[in-house]
Amino acid sequence: MSLKSFNHFETLCTKPIKEVRNTANHQLGINPSSAFRFDNTADSIKAFLSQPGSHVYSRYGNPTVDPVGQRIADLEVSGSKTKAYGVLTSSGMAAIHICLQSLLLPGDTVITQEILYGGTSELLNKVFVPQKIKVLNLNFSNLISLEKKFLKLKGNKVIYLETPVNPNLACVDIKAVSKIAKKFKVLVIVDNTFCTAYIQKPLLLGADIVLHSTTKFLHGHGVSMGGAIVTKDKLLMHDKIWPFLKLIGSTSNAFDAWLIHLGLKTLHIRMQRHCDNAMALANYLNQHENVQKVNYPGLDNHKDHNIAKNQMNGFGALLSFEVKGSIQNAKRVMDGLSLAAIAPSLGETDTMVLHPASSSHLRVDKKLREQHGISDTLIRVSVGIENIEDIINDFNIALDFKIRAK
Ligand SMILES: *Cc1c(COP(=O)(O)O)cnc(C)c1O
Repeated sequence: MSLKSFNHFETLCTKPIKEVRNTANHQLGINPSSAFRFDNTADSIKAFLSQPGSHVYSRYGNPTVDPVGQRIADLEVSGSKTKAYGVLTSSGMAAIHICLQSLLLPGDTVITQEILYGGTSELLNKVFVPQKIKVLNLNFSNLISLEKKFLKLKGNKVIYLETPVNPNLACVDIKAVSKIAKKFKVLVIVDNTFCTAYIQKPLLLGADIVLHSTTKFLHGHGVSMGGAIVTKDKLLMHDKIWPFLKLIGSTSNAFDAWLIHLGLKTLHIRMQRHCDNAMALANYLNQHENVQKVNYPGLDNHKDHNIAKNQMNGFGALLSFEVKGSIQNAKRVMDGLSLAAIAPSLGETDTMVLHPASSSHLRVDKKLREQHGISDTLIRVSVGIENIEDIINDFNIALDFKIRAK
C-alpha cells in the first residue's frame, strides 16, 4: 500500500473521519453511516453473505437500529425461554405493511376486526384489496364462527388483531384465537401498540407476530416516528420479513432508533403510572352525572373485563367515554379541557384527547361507527403520567355544566 498521506485541502475536507475510540461506549451511540467499509473484497463478500446481521448498507441493517429492534423483541418474550426476533421500521404503518406484504399473495385472506386503527383499515382497503387480497371482518368473540369460516376459506390466511381496540377498547382473547389458528396453521398477528410488552405479551399467549407503532408508548415522548415487527419464527424473519423490509426500504434510521432506545429505559415506570392514572380517571368518569358511559377494560362493567384481566398486566392508558346529550356537549368538554391536549396521537407522557367521530373515524360509515360504540359524543383519552389530581381536576372543570334535557 502506498504511504502517501493524501493531505491536500480538498481531500482532507472530503475524506471520512475515522472514529477514535479505545474503550467501549457505556450507552448506545448514534451511527448514521449509510454504508460500512471493508478492508478488502474478501471481507466484503463475507459481509454480504452473512445477511442479515453484518453491516453493509444501512437500509439492510445498522449498528444503532438493529439492537433496538432486538431489544423490543426481547421485551416481548421476557421472563420466558422463548426467543424472538425484531426489526425496526420507519413507522407503525410500515411495520403493518411490510408484515402483511411479506406474507400474503393474491387470493389470500386477512381475517380481522371490523373496527381497527384507522390507518390499518385504510391500508387493507386501499393497498391490499386492489392486490386481490381479501379482507374478512369477523367478531372474534364468536370462536365457533371463526372455526367454521376457516373450514370454508381457500388460500393462505392470516389473523390480524388489535386488543384492546381503538377506540371502544373491546378486547380479543389472544390465547383462544391462537389455539384455533394453530389447528388450521394460520398465523396470528397482533398490533400490541396500546399495551406494549409491559402489559401484554401476545407471543407468549400463542400469537406468531407482534407489531408496534413505537411512535406511541415504546418511544413515549412524542418526538420520533417508528414501528417494529417481532416474531418467534427466525426463518420467517430472515426469509420473508427482513428481505421485504430491505427491498421496500421502509427502514428506521439511527436517530429514531436511538430516541426509541431512550424511551425503552423508562417504559416499565411510565406504563405502570399510565395504568394507575387511567384506572383512577375511569373510576372518576364512571360516577360523573354528565357521563353516559365509560369504556375501560379495567372497569368491571366493561364487556371484556374478564378477557383483559386474564391476558393483561394492568389495563393500559387508553379509555373512552360518552358525554350525555348531543355532539355539542362532547365538543364543549373537549374545548373545556386545558391540561389535556386535543391531539391525534397517544402514548406520550401527557394526557391527550381525541373526538373520533370528527377526526380518526370521520371517514368510517356512521352506522358502522355507532354499531361499534363510536358515537358522536365519544371522547378518547390517552391518560398521561401527570399528577392524577390535576388530570381529574381538568376533566372535573370541563364536565361542569348543566346538560339540558332534550
Ligand atoms: C399509531 C398507530 C399505528 C400506526 O403507527 P404510525 O407510527 O403512526 O405509523 C398502528 N396501530 C396503532 C394501534 C396505532 O395506535
